[in-house]
Amino acid sequence: MASSFLFPSAFAAMSKEQQKQYPKKDELPDVNSPMVKQWVSEIDWSKVPNIPVAKADIPNCPDCPKNKKGVPKDACWWTCDGCVAKDDIEVCPRQNAWGLTYDDGPSEDTPRLLKKLQTANVTGTFFVVGSRILEYPETLLREVQEGHHIGLHTWSHAGMTSLTNEQIVAEIKWAEKIVFDVTGLKTKYWRPPYGDVDNRVREIARQMGYVTVIWTKEWDSNDWQIPDKTITNKEVFRNFKWALSTVPKLKGGVITLEHDLFVQTVNVAGPLLDMGMKQGLEPMDIARCVNDPHPYQNSLIENKSETQPKKPLGVAPAKKPVAAPQEPKIAPQEPKVVPQEPEDAPQEEPMEEDEETESEDQDEEINSASVGHSKSASKSSAGRIAWATSSLALVVASSIVFSF
Ligand SMILES: [Zn+2]
Repeated sequence: MASSFLFPSAFAAMSKEQQKQYPKKDELPDVNSPMVKQWVSEIDWSKVPNIPVAKADIPNCPDCPKNKKGVPKDACWWTCDGCVAKDDIEVCPRQNAWGLTYDDGPSEDTPRLLKKLQTANVTGTFFVVGSRILEYPETLLREVQEGHHIGLHTWSHAGMTSLTNEQIVAEIKWAEKIVFDVTGLKTKYWRPPYGDVDNRVREIARQMGYVTVIWTKEWDSNDWQIPDKTITNKEVFRNFKWALSTVPKLKGGVITLEHDLFVQTVNVAGPLLDMGMKQGLEPMDIARCVNDPHPYQNSLIENKSETQPKKPLGVAPAKKPVAAPQEPKIAPQEPKVVPQEPEDAPQEEPMEEDEETESEDQDEEINSASVGHSKSASKSSAGRIAWATSSLALVVASSIVFSF
């Protein structure tokens, strides 16, 4: 398939003509298009479990059956029975490693978060919604240029178990295509919206080369509830402080869930980062968290260093190529606010350092954003990246210097 590669320097914004090459923002792609039919034909459907499509008010997360008997036995349906597959990623194997993830962008507030991360000299994984790149391609490119890791969060942010097989393919592949068109990178990691994944969805994603990333139990920041006013900034900080208090007892590291879609969620991201680092957590993107030296499907890394840079931007080299498989575990049915109250109030109320950022005390005054998804290159001795699939991508590679 010929790629309509869009050279990054052309991206102040995507023109209307360029946007027409893609499905519409926040809408399920047409499964009858030649592109989707081609993608569907590349799947070995004999390997995909015949699990019923869940009922849902799309794009919302499906309602779970009232009792667990309603969940098909072989579904391993994370959102409804807490089941985690062996190759799902929900923790960082190494103690104190902190998989930093931001979902649902890019948005107009993402640059403010990027500034904070750059100041802190840390990288995270951005699980991007493909259709939102239509408006903010330059933000996606900036994420890559500043060493962050890009994962997919589908095209329109629908609950995956409620989609047909063809719709699942279309949601992932269209998102993959727009990221590739803008950056030259073929993504490898994805996070299903709402964490809504079962074995049917997993197998389809696997066949397209994807690793499924959830997040660690009790480490959903619940920042997505702030715009709905069902939680306050202070509660988010208090819950996170409680989660941090459990770190010494953990066998491995954690993966947090945050969002860069709303002004309110970006407002709390800086203080949360400061709190975690102060407690000794080492923030990093997901590829580093699982020690994956190949963060993209089309990346090749020349690793000339035996040691990891102290403050790497991007993905550090690794001795072990993949994370240790995890035993199936029970994860929370629904992301919940941690119920415990800390014994005492935070001694230091975290404040956003960025002068452009609203104080959390102003949260009561900030109206809910209108977007309807509330539930939801630095110098390096380590190596460099070369993209294998496209000569045009190699042109980009030469213009963007990554560090690993
Ligand atoms: Zn999401």
